Amino acid sequence: MAIKLLDAETAARIAAGEVVESPAAVVKELAENALDAGATRITIRVEEGGSGSITVIDDGAGIASEDLELAFRRHATSKIKQREDLYRVTTLGFRGEALPSIAAVARVTLTTRCEGTLQGECIRIEGGNQLGRGITGAPVGTAVTVKDLFFNTPARHKFLRSPAVELGRISSLVADLTLAHPEVSFILESGGRIMLQTRGDGSLAGVAAQLYGDRCAAALLPLERRETEGGEGQAICGLLSAPYFTRASRRYITVIVNGRAVKAPALVYALERGYGGVLPRGRYPVAVLHLQVLPRTLDVNVHPAKTEVRFQSNETVNDFVYRAVRQALARGAPAPLQSPAGLAPRSGTGEGLDRSKKRAQRFALETTPSYPPLAVGVYPSTEVPSAGQGSGLEPELPAETAAITAGRPRLIGQLWRSYLIALNEEHLLLLDQHAAHERVLYHALTGSGAPHPGTVQLTVPLVVDVPLPWREHFREVRVVLEESGFVIESFGNTSYVVRGVPFSPFTDNRREYLEELFEELLAEEPPPEPPSRDTVLKTVACHRAVKAGQALGRTEMEALLAVWAVTPGREYCPHGRPAVLQFTRRELEKGFHRTGN
Ligand code: ADP
Ligand code: MG
Repeated sequence: MAIKLLDAETAARIAAGEVVESPAAVVKELAENALDAGATRITIRVEEGGSGSITVIDDGAGIASEDLELAFRRHATSKIKQREDLYRVTTLGFRGEALPSIAAVARVTLTTRCEGTLQGECIRIEGGNQLGRGITGAPVGTAVTVKDLFFNTPARHKFLRSPAVELGRISSLVADLTLAHPEVSFILESGGRIMLQTRGDGSLAGVAAQLYGDRCAAALLPLERRETEGGEGQAICGLLSAPYFTRASRRYITVIVNGRAVKAPALVYALERGYGGVLPRGRYPVAVLHLQVLPRTLDVNVHPAKTEVRFQSNETVNDFVYRAVRQALARGAPAPLQSPAGLAPRSGTGEGLDRSKKRAQRFALETTPSYPPLAVGVYPSTEVPSAGQGSGLEPELPAETAAITAGRPRLIGQLWRSYLIALNEEHLLLLDQHAAHERVLYHALTGSGAPHPGTVQLTVPLVVDVPLPWREHFREVRVVLEESGFVIESFGNTSYVVRGVPFSPFTDNRREYLEELFEELLAEEPPPEPPSRDTVLKTVACHRAVKAGQALGRTEMEALLAVWAVTPGREYCPHGRPAVLQFTRRELEKGFHRTGN
């Protein structure tokens, strides 16, 4: 086959695939251009998660009339001029690819005016073709509107996720931008509603509070370190959480290198190492690290989306971060915030183990069922057994005892604080106490049209901070939770207060357990589709069920056994794991080679 040069349009579309992979990538490129233009205020408006339209408005320098068309030409940039400049990049952009790439796969309108000119100009480009250009009234700055993303690349269009997912990605990205640039005021609007508006007053702690909630912000310590050596140097500043405030994932760790939020696993590891083992297993700090290195010691041209960087010396930088973290933590952790409501952040371990234990006791949620258990539908009232008398394992298997009737097992005891041993007419039963209880709760929560199982008021309400990317989804999650017995109130823009939880006998309502539930519900970053009703309920059932390893009183065990015995689908937990193993007498006899005797 003959080799041919691709025509410009095809080449542009291929290249666009690398830079513009999603609506969030478009927002990123446009917002970075605005930052490079010195904007102090950037408004980002999206419709349908950006697949409908994306508009980014800035008050930056604007584009000069003579450069307007050039800006949309491939490899046209005002930011670097020669090869050497690539090694001293101080702007966010430099590849000259974003505008042409976006314009190749969407309908773009750009309006701009420079300081000192009287009129604005406007240019329209669709699928790489310039459709028009004209004079217009406009404020100083630039506004770019991108509509119908991927309208001419059906294969890409197919990869657009739902508006909810794309909006989640956009909000994650905007969160990074606001942390990287607290000196700039960002507004994020979706479908005409303001999701976030930062002040742009330069306060990183202020931005963190808006993204993560006040409770988190109050646990953050300042971090600052500077090293200079013969005119060379590196500096770091930012915030990191005191050891008692941890999260279940690393998504609250943001690393910004020379103004660019990047993925930097090695630096994140250095940060964690800096905590010197006080972080509980599987728990991570909250941190925003602003690292400044000499541009020539940094390669930013690793990936088209510019989310990765390479340092001249990884070791030096990692070590620097490690030492800065140690220093910040050594300066002393603030006492956990006690807001007027008496709410404390979750506790950690290590140095604070004793303290955190005390705190846990102090803040343990005392619960009072709002009405007696028998009325709530979790126990079928006729099935609640009276407290049993027998204790532990009984010597024989008395198949003819009156207590044992079909479908009504009798408790023998608990094994390893994880399994219940029981007998019914036919079988020896081994129940996985967690799986069995999970099924019981799940059934109560989904109970075909039945009202929810009732609510336990928490004496100390739980504040749940919902991070920005989850705020849209959480409204749907909240509805499901409320239907199943949670009592939830909005609390400012970032948080909710949980005042009540679904009643469940023998469920431990300790703060940590409830926090874990919400952390899991809001786990993934960026959030996937809003979780389905069923997923929410399964998660609730799983988190509210008794744990393996949890000691249970005899009455509790008997109650669990009784309600489990009449729960549909009792053989399996809602995730499909077995809840019970059964052995017939015959099977036991076989095992002991008693058959045929
Ligand atoms: P790059 O940012 O890598 O230079 P882009 O394609 O993103 O490439 O932008 C091309 C050029 O258009 C930029 O170098 C800049 O001169 C100009 N430009 C783009 N957006 C803006 C903006 N919002 N304000 C001012 N100038 C802009
Ligand atoms: Mg750019």
